[in-house]
Amino acid sequence: MGGYFKEIFDGAHSLVAGMGVTLKYLFQPVVTEQYPHVAPTMPDRFRGHIELVASEETGGTLCIVCGMCQKACPSGCITVAGEKVEGVKGKVLTKYELDFTKCSLCGICVESCNPGAITFSKDYNLAGLRKEAFIYDLKKRLEERKR
Ligand code: SF4
Ligand code: SF4
Repeated sequence: MGGYFKEIFDGAHSLVAGMGVTLKYLFQPVVTEQYPHVAPTMPDRFRGHIELVASEETGGTLCIVCGMCQKACPSGCITVAGEKVEGVKGKVLTKYELDFTKCSLCGICVESCNPGAITFSKDYNLAGLRKEAFIYDLKKRLEERKR
């Protein structure tokens, strides 16, 4: 008989203790991320795939097509191409392709770029059904951001 009442007491005690915890957190600020309804702000040091930096003056690229990032990438992810245009000093960027399937986010490309023309993006929710979905035309992406 004593065991019966002890079980009731333990059950009631556990219920009250649980409700106490619930009530305590009920009135505290919400800390849970409401993803995907609210997009989270990624921290400054977050590394998404690389992207071209837009010039503050023109909105165009800062890339001078030196090819250093392409040479420095240990995984061969980057393909850069440019051409000479009459009246323009140096080369004009015609292609900047990133194969993100091979990228380890090591950052060597970003470090090797003297003009600061590439940086890490804040893109975090990348998904695709095909490998080709992760081969990015960064020049096109920069132009789309300009619009
Ligand atoms: S972060 Fe590293 S692996 Fe990725 S593209 Fe740059 S150099 Fe290559
Ligand atoms: S992104 Fe930087 S390192 Fe790469 S080609 Fe352009 S200027 Fe050179």
